[in-house]
Amino acid sequence: MPSYLYDLISSRAPAADKVFIEALDGRKVTYGGLHEGSARIAQTLAELGIVAGDRVAVQVEKSPDALLLYLACLRAGAIFLPLNTAYTPAEIEYFLGDAKPRVFVCDPKKKDGLSAVAEKTGVAHVETLGEKEDGTLIEKSRGKTGTFADVERGESDLAAILYTSGTTGRSKGAMLSHGNLASNALTLVDYWRFTADDVLIHALPIYHTHGLFVATNTLLLAGGSMLFLPKLDANEILRLMPRATSMMGVPTFYTRLLQHDGLNREATAHMRLFISGSAPLLAETHVEWRERTGHAILERYGMTETNMNTSNPYDGDRVAGTVGFPLPGLEVRITEPEDEKVLAQGEIGMIEVRGPNVFQGYWQMPEKTKEELRDNGFFITGDLGKIDDRGYVHIVGRNKDLVITGGFNVYPVEVEAEIDALPGVVESAVIGVSHADFGEGVTAVVVPDKKTPVDEKGILAALDGRLAKFKLPKRVLFVDELPRNTMGKVQKAALRETYADLYKG
Ligand code: AMP
Repeated sequence: MPSYLYDLISSRAPAADKVFIEALDGRKVTYGGLHEGSARIAQTLAELGIVAGDRVAVQVEKSPDALLLYLACLRAGAIFLPLNTAYTPAEIEYFLGDAKPRVFVCDPKKKDGLSAVAEKTGVAHVETLGEKEDGTLIEKSRGKTGTFADVERGESDLAAILYTSGTTGRSKGAMLSHGNLASNALTLVDYWRFTADDVLIHALPIYHTHGLFVATNTLLLAGGSMLFLPKLDANEILRLMPRATSMMGVPTFYTRLLQHDGLNREATAHMRLFISGSAPLLAETHVEWRERTGHAILERYGMTETNMNTSNPYDGDRVAGTVGFPLPGLEVRITEPEDEKVLAQGEIGMIEVRGPNVFQGYWQMPEKTKEELRDNGFFITGDLGKIDDRGYVHIVGRNKDLVITGGFNVYPVEVEAEIDALPGVVESAVIGVSHADFGEGVTAVVVPDKKTPVDEKGILAALDGRLAKFKLPKRVLFVDELPRNTMGKVQKAALRETYADLYKG
């Protein structure tokens, strides 16, 4: 019986001996190995009682086996629920309590700390998966046959839940169907001209839509290969470039590589395509990259809830500072969201998106879903933008004051709540300030009560361990009061202006 997305993947798979992933340690997984390995894990999941629609929550380090587990979930009918490796046990407790997975797979090194959390939230089974073909999940799968009768899942059945940060502090689980993922990956294969000859440098995390769906699903449907790096490493990327054809990265990848003396035309001669997304690519980075390498970076725009929405063209002008055109098969419009008035070309407003890529709603949050996903299918992205007279989409800002640091989203409210709870703090405002390396640096502006002494070091030490590392402020600044408008709202735009040069020079 077919599982919609997995069936599409297998129907397009090249010869069984073709390599799909090659890891830095030399381990290779072929397309045949992917099929058998995912079958073995799917059998194990079925033995653990997984039935169609069950969630499998996963917080593991990046490895080929983590991708086998993703495919195994598709085949076993489960909903794959990847979690950022930086999340602390307190954060994991929220996700497990909210998603109620039957199985939680974690890093063997974290099992002791996380078992109690899993038990508290009623998870039936905790398994482990390490980076070196180790862990209980792999041990249990080892003796299995390598064949599995896939559980039937259709186009509209859920394939994954990916949590996004919530503006109110609560993360929301974006429900993505087999059809959402399949349609977007098929579009990207064509739009970006991926073929079986492609070898992608993959240095992104695989718990996020970028590394998991944009990169992995696209390469799978093209029948190509991936060179798998645990994380961004400019030396390794340059070493691998002569064997690769393409790379997908967040803007930090490009700024880091530009700092490397080895980046030049010869080093990139074998590459056909550099793609950037997840955060705005500075126009200077685009220009500098072109000067050094002769390649124009292709910038695209997407989000967890919608997969990819727009892209600069493969042929034709890749315009710096824009995110290109709506992808084929989907609609982008600019509105005044309150009354759904569609604005004229060139006017700035809310970016709304409709198409087969748009998610099914937020997990167990019908109210939130209703606020952001219209009955007519348009999703209100929260990003402000315009469409210029050539049809290129520009993103001008974010409605939600989201901070994007190194490609990761940080919602200020969550960090502010932690800081406000500390002794000696009256209140705080967290903003994103332009940072050459991270795109934006999380920055906290704090009003002290002047009774209990507080300083930058003390606040950072108190937050460490309470928040994932990427959410920690890069700087904590002190002011007597926060700027407010007549409605009493903190004026974050004014704060961003005041501290605009904080990380410069
Ligand atoms: P995420 O759900 O983590 O993928 O984050 C999605 C958000 O990242 C979007 O709503 C945008 O605000 C931002 N984003 C993604 N790609 C771009 C881009 N190319 N330029 C500017 N912002 C982007």
